[in-house]
Amino acid sequence: MPLVIAMDGPSGSGKSSASKGVARALGLRYLDTGAMYRAMTWWMLRAGVPVEDAGAVAARALEPAIECGTDPDTPTITVGGEDVSGPIRTREVTNAVSAVSSVPAVRTRLVELQREIIGLGGIVVEGRDIGTVVAPDAAVKVFLTASEEARAARRTLELAADPGVSAQVTQAEQARRDRIDSTRKASPLTKAADAQEIDSTELGLDEVIEAVVRLAKERE
Ligand code: C5P
Repeated sequence: MPLVIAMDGPSGSGKSSASKGVARALGLRYLDTGAMYRAMTWWMLRAGVPVEDAGAVAARALEPAIECGTDPDTPTITVGGEDVSGPIRTREVTNAVSAVSSVPAVRTRLVELQREIIGLGGIVVEGRDIGTVVAPDAAVKVFLTASEEARAARRTLELAADPGVSAQVTQAEQARRDRIDSTRKASPLTKAADAQEIDSTELGLDEVIEAVVRLAKERE
């Protein structure tokens, strides 16, 4: 069975860079499931759906046509054919995504899409529930963590792109998102019992990639 590598963890743990790096190193495809929840959220906001109203979100969850490319060098995401790779990273979407991703109808829809893309495997998949729900049979499961300080520092770097917002506000918003993601009823962020935890606080990106590649080679 071609390899599936599940990469879960909170935001700021370095999942995206590590996942793309592992996919490149092993010649695998790459799927960013967070981008799919963001794309769903972007569409809901644009359609004027009140995102805090779970019933209203659930009623429209089947409508957006979300498509993702899986090349780790050029990951793409479109909704109804429109490139949304930029708009899904705005603060407005980031602050609304946890409400949308906690709606079971949204998760059912996107998990089904994710499983279609994963297909027979040969892919690194990053998210919050990959090892627990989306691909519980994945041969390699990683739970990537980092200290609060390291995660906060990474977020601040990412937010250099949004100079109007202070680091404190960003961190408060991030903490709120992590809290909702970890405590929601449907597939909360949690480490799978058989996942290997990697703490990236003291590791460089290359060291994290090497550690995951080593785990993958052990499974071969
Ligand atoms: O990974 P990223 O920070 O882009 O994810 C955005 C949001 O999407 C998360 O805060 C979470 O609410 C949701 N998400 C999820 N399940 C996943 C991936 C992301 O609920 N597998």
